[in-house]
Amino acid sequence: MIDQYNREITYLRISITELCNLRCRYCMPADGVCKKRHEEMLTEDELVRAVETAAMLGITKVRITGGEPLVKKNAVSICRRIAAVPGIREVCLTTNGTLLPPLAVPLREAGVRRVNISLDTLDERKYADITRGGSLKDAWSGIEAALAAGFDRVKLNTVLIGGFNDDEIVPLAELTKKYPLDVRFIELMPMCDSREFDESAFIPYTRVLEALPEAVPAAADGGVARLYRLPGAQGNVGLISPVSDHFCAGCNRIRLTADGKLKPCLHSCEEYSLKGLDDAGMKARLEQAIWNKPLWHGELDASHRSRAGRNMNQIGG
Ligand code: SAM
Ligand code: SF4
Repeated sequence: MIDQYNREITYLRISITELCNLRCRYCMPADGVCKKRHEEMLTEDELVRAVETAAMLGITKVRITGGEPLVKKNAVSICRRIAAVPGIREVCLTTNGTLLPPLAVPLREAGVRRVNISLDTLDERKYADITRGGSLKDAWSGIEAALAAGFDRVKLNTVLIGGFNDDEIVPLAELTKKYPLDVRFIELMPMCDSREFDESAFIPYTRVLEALPEAVPAAADGGVARLYRLPGAQGNVGLISPVSDHFCAGCNRIRLTADGKLKPCLHSCEEYSLKGLDDAGMKARLEQAIWNKPLWHGELDASHRSRAGRNMNQIGG
C-alpha cells in the first residue's frame, strides 16, 4: 500500500516483547520495565492475524525484534507461523544473540532468513558496562551459532557511541574480513531515557569512513545502510545515519509494538491500536496507520530528542 506521500510500505517490524535479559544504556532503563498485564499484549494468534492482514495490504518483509525476542518462549513458533503467511517473502530477526545458541537452527528451520545481532564492542568489560551486566562470551557464542546455522545473511549492529566505541571502529569493521558477515554502524538515536549521553556521544557515520580510508563503496542491497567493503573482506560495512542524514523520504516501514500499537514512524508518538479488533477492523486500522505515516521524523539530535514516547525496547529499533 502507498502512503499519502507516495511511499510504498512493504516492511513490518514487530516487537514481540518489551522485556530483555540485558539493559543497554541507550535503550532501556537500568531497572527494566514494568511488566504489562497479559491482557494488554497481543496474543500469538492476533500477531499472526495482523501479519496476514498486513500481507494483504502489500507487506512482504517482517522483522521480529523486541526487547529481546528470544526471551519469549514462543519466538520460534511466531517466526514459523509468520513465515508461512501468504505474501510474506522474508522473515528476519534482530537479537542480542546471547540466547541464540540453542535456537539458531530451530529459527532457521522455522523460516527465518536473516539475523542481525547487536554487538557494540569487542571488549568484555565494556560489553558488560554498556549492557549493564551482559557477557560478551554469550553474545559471541550467539554469533558463532548464527554463522553455523546457515542463515542467508548474518549482520552485526553496532551503535556508534563517541567516547565508548569510536576507538573500535577498525577492529569491529575488520570482522568482515575474518567472517562472512556484515558489520553495520548505527548512529545513536536520542531516546527518552538515554539522557546519560551528552552531545559528544552522538557521532556521525562519516567518522567511520574517516577511520576506514581503504573502504570502497559496495552495491546497495535495498536496505537503509550505505554499504562499503574493505579489501579482501567477505562482508560489507554498513553505515546507518538516522540522525545526521535521515532516510525518511524512502522509508518503507511500519512498526508494531508488543502491546498492539502500530507506529507509522519510529520517532512519532502517533499510534494506532490493533488490540481486540476483528479482521476488518485490523485492515481499516492498518490502512489508516499507513496512510498517515509522517513525512519525516522531525529534528533529531542531542537537543531534539525522539518524540516516540517510548524507549527503544518498546519499539524494536
Ligand atoms: N534486543 C535485540 C537487539 O539488541 O538486537 C533487539 C531489539 S533492539 C531495541 C534493536 C536494535 O536497536 C539494536 O540493534 C540496538 O542496538 C538498537 N538500538 C537500541 N537503542 C538505540 C538507540 N538509542 N540508538 C540507536 N540504536 C538503538
Ligand atoms: Fe535489550 Fe536489545 Fe535494548 Fe540491548 S538493545 S537493552 S539487548 S532490547
